Amino acid sequence: CGVFGVWALGQSTEAANFTYLGLHALQHRGQESAGIVSTDGSALHVHRGMGLVADIFNAGELAKLPGGAAIGHVRYSTAGASHLKNAQPIAIQYAGGAVAVAHNGNLVNAETLRTELEAAGSIFQTTSDTEVILHLMARVRPGPAVPGSTEHHLAAIRAALARVSGAYSLLFLTERSMIGARDPQGFRPLVLGKLKGNWVLASETTALDLIEAEYVREIAPGEIVVIDEKGLRSEKLEPTAGPRRLARCVFEHIYFARPDSILFGRSVHEVRSSFGAQLAKDHPVEADVVIAVPDSGVPAAVGYARQSGIPYDVGLVRSHYIGRTFIEPQQSIRHFGVKLKLNAVRGVLRDKRVVVVDDSIVRGTTSRKIVKMIRDAGAKEVHLRISSPPTAWPCYYGIDTPTRQELIAATHSEPEIRDYVTADSLGYLSIDGLYAALGEARQGFCDACFTGEYVLEFPHSRPAAPLR
Ligand code: 5GP
Ligand code: SF4
Ligand code: MG
Repeated sequence: CGVFGVWALGQSTEAANFTYLGLHALQHRGQESAGIVSTDGSALHVHRGMGLVADIFNAGELAKLPGGAAIGHVRYSTAGASHLKNAQPIAIQYAGGAVAVAHNGNLVNAETLRTELEAAGSIFQTTSDTEVILHLMARVRPGPAVPGSTEHHLAAIRAALARVSGAYSLLFLTERSMIGARDPQGFRPLVLGKLKGNWVLASETTALDLIEAEYVREIAPGEIVVIDEKGLRSEKLEPTAGPRRLARCVFEHIYFARPDSILFGRSVHEVRSSFGAQLAKDHPVEADVVIAVPDSGVPAAVGYARQSGIPYDVGLVRSHYIGRTFIEPQQSIRHFGVKLKLNAVRGVLRDKRVVVVDDSIVRGTTSRKIVKMIRDAGAKEVHLRISSPPTAWPCYYGIDTPTRQELIAATHSEPEIRDYVTADSLGYLSIDGLYAALGEARQGFCDACFTGEYVLEFPHSRPAAPLR
């Protein structure tokens, strides 16, 4: 998912318009539903819908979201069904006043908390993990703080977050404040920007670029920022039980974030091209052309070509009128999705030894069709290079990977995968190669989908023995 918020209460009446633009720049982070909540200082205004940002909002809908501050969300489901009732931001009224929340990430103890809250009388309106945070807020007795005040909301948020565990980059909007928080492990990104003296919070810097806001810094893991008429202040979340260690999602660098973003302090494009260069060092091959599986494989393919000296060319063309196939929740759509999305450029591939670079193999079905497509276009040899290690474990922290049984690398060796996708050779980036190319210590990142080393416990028990 993607989150965006702007605070210019009293300075602007256009917060919803800026949020609409910000959500456009974050559309790659979720395409199932989107929403905006604005405040004019005295009430929250909400609009949410299913589908793409451009389809949900028009000038008329945006005009119904008045005020100088707003938060927005683009969603793809990892917890809870793809349904309008699960669209975000979720807006509610509790003893502290009105509050809306937008969440990127996935809580690992939401089910446990939900059971406990329901036993105590809470009635949930959605099946999303995010709603747990609001119910926890509603149960807090925030001492002497005046209901509706920033202090009251902040005390409720702090107490609620002290009980949740998992991945969260959160934006809260109340009538008179905007609050951002990032979990202590820092799984998902969250950045701070400045626009003409006003504050902006967003999942990725690409959203700041679009509205010409200046990138200030990342929100630190375990940080909570509070923005109201007194300005911006930064605090630390209560220390929670569990590991201290940072666990920034390395898959954001591999696939999820946009290449034009600065993520965890690094240019995503540069990181991806160094993954490609590393891949060329570790898995060289004699070939005539390097091509990418667009769009996600492009920066790594450029890096592979540069390092190997083999020319880069455009051998596959992507239709821009279909979204990321992996975000479509239905298996059936994924099947014909490949041809809908990609086509081969015969002149580039005919009679060539082709290196094709992609970011990941998940089920293997797409890769198999792509290899076939390249061969059908006349390629003599097809060498598949993957700019991440084999994806063998599901993600419980907010990326929608399928079950372990469906992950081809969970049940097949690399030679078996090579044969399944019908490539002449297959090379994955190793875990050591990944961090060498990233130029950072492994300790700061989560890579559980590649290694099975989960930094935070999650409720579903892992299979006792590896599947294969
Ligand atoms: P596959 O060969 O595993 O079917 O598809 C691999 C390609 O599709 C890669 O380009 C990857 O970006 C994308 N992809 C397909 N399905 C998924 C999925 O469920 N999760 C992720 N992360 N990527 C997927
Ligand atoms: Fe990211 Fe993989 Fe960790 Fe999930 S398991 S947070 S996708 S690195
Ligand atoms: Mg891809």
